[in-house]
Amino acid sequence: MSSGLSDEQVQAIIARVRARLGASGSGAGLRGEQALAAAEQAELGDGIFATVDEAVAAAADAFDAFVSAGLETRHRIIAAVREAMLAHAETLAEMAHAETGLGRAADKVVKNRLVTTRSPGPEDLEPQAVTGDEGMMVTEFAPFGVVASITPTTNPTSTIINNTIAIVSAGNALVFNVHPNAKRVSAENIRLINRAIAAAGGPTDLVTGVAEPTIDSAKALMNHPAVRLLLVTGGPAVVAEALRTDKRAVTAGPGNPPAVVDHTADVEQAARDIVRGASFDNNVICTDEKTTIVLRPVADQLVRGLARHGAYVLAEHELRRLERVIFTEVGAPGRPGRINPRWIGKDAAALLAEIGVRADGDVRLLVAQVPNEHSLVWTEQMMPVMPVTAVGDVDRAIRLAVDSEHRFRHTASIHSTNVEVITRMARAMNCSIFVANGPTFAGLGEGGEGFCSFSIATPTGDGMTRPRTFSRERRITLVGALRIV
Ligand code: NAD
Repeated sequence: MSSGLSDEQVQAIIARVRARLGASGSGAGLRGEQALAAAEQAELGDGIFATVDEAVAAAADAFDAFVSAGLETRHRIIAAVREAMLAHAETLAEMAHAETGLGRAADKVVKNRLVTTRSPGPEDLEPQAVTGDEGMMVTEFAPFGVVASITPTTNPTSTIINNTIAIVSAGNALVFNVHPNAKRVSAENIRLINRAIAAAGGPTDLVTGVAEPTIDSAKALMNHPAVRLLLVTGGPAVVAEALRTDKRAVTAGPGNPPAVVDHTADVEQAARDIVRGASFDNNVICTDEKTTIVLRPVADQLVRGLARHGAYVLAEHELRRLERVIFTEVGAPGRPGRINPRWIGKDAAALLAEIGVRADGDVRLLVAQVPNEHSLVWTEQMMPVMPVTAVGDVDRAIRLAVDSEHRFRHTASIHSTNVEVITRMARAMNCSIFVANGPTFAGLGEGGEGFCSFSIATPTGDGMTRPRTFSRERRITLVGALRIV
């Protein structure tokens, strides 16, 4: 795993910081609403500016200082950012939940800790050396300068933390234009990052943002002459906007991840994993399972398993009622519909209450058994409503998975013990992330191997973004010398 901290180190930091905050009476214990209210009172400063021009100018000055600060400082800064973000993981999660009204606060804590501990740092930029009869060649990874990042409302803090670790590790300065619906928690996050960087001896304003982000300020930032590189995380409109600029853009766009369950699968485990994955943060994460395609012989068994693991299976008349609530426009057969934004990221229990259904216990997911062409199968719903659709054979399952994913090539998964089928589907999907026999969040490094990213750049082919993504490769060749063996 190429992340900076072991599990033991993470636990030690959390314990240390909790003890320190407890002793100093810091505000880190404030609950989401209170912390948001406190953040609202904050003045400009610590990286937050009134205008895009000021935010970019400050980051450009910080970059000049950062370039000459050396690698050791860079390592120290990233360690300090990780430590601060672990300390504030819970508060930022509660603030994000309170401000956006999306997802589950407890799951947002998991997301914050995941990106903090498993986003690769400067170690991702180990130089590469080649020596031979003709001498030596070394490749090093250089920064671009000022990088702009546009972030989504669905993962406001986890994207800011992940992008900061990746982009600053590569030696760049960073200017955020965050989603307006998450501007207060995002500003607080940027302030905390700046304070951590300054305390570690780094330049002030290495990571900046504007106090009042808008679509216009996003466009101004993306087109700013001092910005060298764009990272955009969001839906199709902002991806298209970034690709219209004259800059290199790394774009992390939408998905519609299918989970296929074949007749060779451990169906009980598949059911458990699908409930865990699809209900994670109420399905707002782009990689969360959004459609289940099951082979007919095991369909009933799977649905019973989903119910056992925390899902509520909707009766047909309940689904009809739910469609009227969650869609402003149900799509034609085989087409996505329009989701009512009011219900994005809301709890399954709230959706049930809206359609007049009482359910016992903590319902994490609603399950709707639907035909293949039902709009839910084709829609990126971003709420805990899982369409389950049955097919006759594996070929049909893979074809439906490819088609309903709309060739975003983002994320897909399969539950199967047949290696040939796993391989066939992975090839056909051609996705940035493909998971076999686990929840899709395992592909982000949560309960699976590998590093984490919260900007999965499928449209531009960069995949899981990391410090190398934000680096310029530079080569030095020395002819006829420095091979010393
Ligand atoms: P969104 O597209 O509404 O907003 C994303 C960001 O883009 C916000 O900061 C917003 O202010 C800005 N924006 C939106 N339209 C713009 C325009 N025309 N010009 C300039 N800026 C614009 O998305 P959201 O609701 O915040 O996030 C959910 C979407 O993002 C989903 O489609 C999800 O799949 C996708 N997403 C993808 C990834 C990934 O890694 N690929 C990660 C998270 C979210």
